[in-house]
Amino acid sequence: MKKHVFIIGGGVAGAEAASQLVKMGFDVTLAEKETQIGGKLNQWDRLFPSKRKAAEVLDFINKNLVDSKARVLFNTEISKISKQNGGYKIYAGIEECTADAILISTGYDVFNARIKEEYGYGIYENVITSVDLEEMFRNGNKIFNSNKEEPKRIGFVHCVGSRDEKVGNHYCSQVCCVTAVKQAMEVKEILPRAEVYCFYMDLRMFGLQFEDLYRESQEKWGVNFIRGRVSEAAENIDGTILIKVEDTLAGRPLKMKVDLLVLMVGFVPSAGTTEIGKMLNLDLTPENFLKPADEHLDTSSTNLKGVFIAGTCKSPKTIADTFADARAATLKIKEFLEGSEK
Ligand SMILES: Cc1cc2nc3c(=O)[nH]c(=O)nc-3n(C[C@H](O)[C@H](O)[C@H](O)COP(=O)(O)OP(=O)(O)OC[C@H]3O[C@@H](n4cnc5c(N)ncnc54)[C@H](O)[C@@H]3O)c2cc1C
Ligand code: SF4
Repeated sequence: MKKHVFIIGGGVAGAEAASQLVKMGFDVTLAEKETQIGGKLNQWDRLFPSKRKAAEVLDFINKNLVDSKARVLFNTEISKISKQNGGYKIYAGIEECTADAILISTGYDVFNARIKEEYGYGIYENVITSVDLEEMFRNGNKIFNSNKEEPKRIGFVHCVGSRDEKVGNHYCSQVCCVTAVKQAMEVKEILPRAEVYCFYMDLRMFGLQFEDLYRESQEKWGVNFIRGRVSEAAENIDGTILIKVEDTLAGRPLKMKVDLLVLMVGFVPSAGTTEIGKMLNLDLTPENFLKPADEHLDTSSTNLKGVFIAGTCKSPKTIADTFADARAATLKIKEFLEGSEK
């Protein structure tokens, strides 16, 4: 009898793990609450660092998953999980499945920018998020403000919902600095005459080629970087946005009018991650992501035997790191199911 692995969440992490586990000889069922595989990747247009189309990566994971013949349940959420005969019984939609191991890959949500009331997201039409801007890119690079005019000056606000005591999120979301730099360059490609400003606290360009993107954004595209936190945004009568910033390099307060303000929203644990964590009574990190059994030696297992985690349900990550993490989790699951775990 083949051992059965049940995967919850079909983003990059869950889809990649499913194809790999089938290759290893296991039966795999993947439950995804939406109607498609790929998670957040479906919302992005071009990816850092190379600016390749997100659709290329999506095609890769979809093809691998279809070829693997893993069983995929779409539109399916989990209502209950109980222990049974050394394994688990999972109530998934209208089905009841048994599994020898569970992999949780329920990902992240982006921070709800409405919580930062001082920026006016959801109130002022010309305040948008990085997710909204990706949608504009996907819809044929149509960047307009609420008056259907091309914006002449655009501001990007870093660290929205991250590194912010006020909202209780102290951690860095890792990918929003490089996403801001990528998006700022894309805006300049589409609107070469627009002035683009990034307002940052520190620039965390940690990956290979990220620093090159930062340089390119200034040298080739003329993107301006101002170190300082935007304290508030207010709408002018013509719909433009007045922002107040403390320029911490120049040591003086600054006021600027922009036609479009883009909030770089950070990562929070997804609602699905929190829900499954509670259902199984899994240990959480202080930031409320799912906690690995050991921060160095075993980042795929949890406090519950036979339950594993992969991807951004445990911390913010790039796509490359999510792929690597999913593959690491499959090796740990294989060890567990074959009884070779130390
Ligand atoms: C604005 C922005 C731009 C980005 N651009 C890039 C980029 O250019 N390059 C890059 O490397 N990274 C980028 N990232 C990061 C990238 O999105 C993540 O690395 C990647 O999506 C993580 O994949 P995941 O599978 O862990 O999570 P997710 O993509 O969140 O997938 C989780 C899946 O689980 C499903 N799910 C959740 N709960 C349940 C449940 N209870 N039952 C069933 N299914 C459930 C969800 O529907 C989803 O399909 C960006 C992030 C942001 C915010
Ligand atoms: S990656 Fe940059 S924008 Fe995102 S939280 Fe960290 S410092 Fe802020």
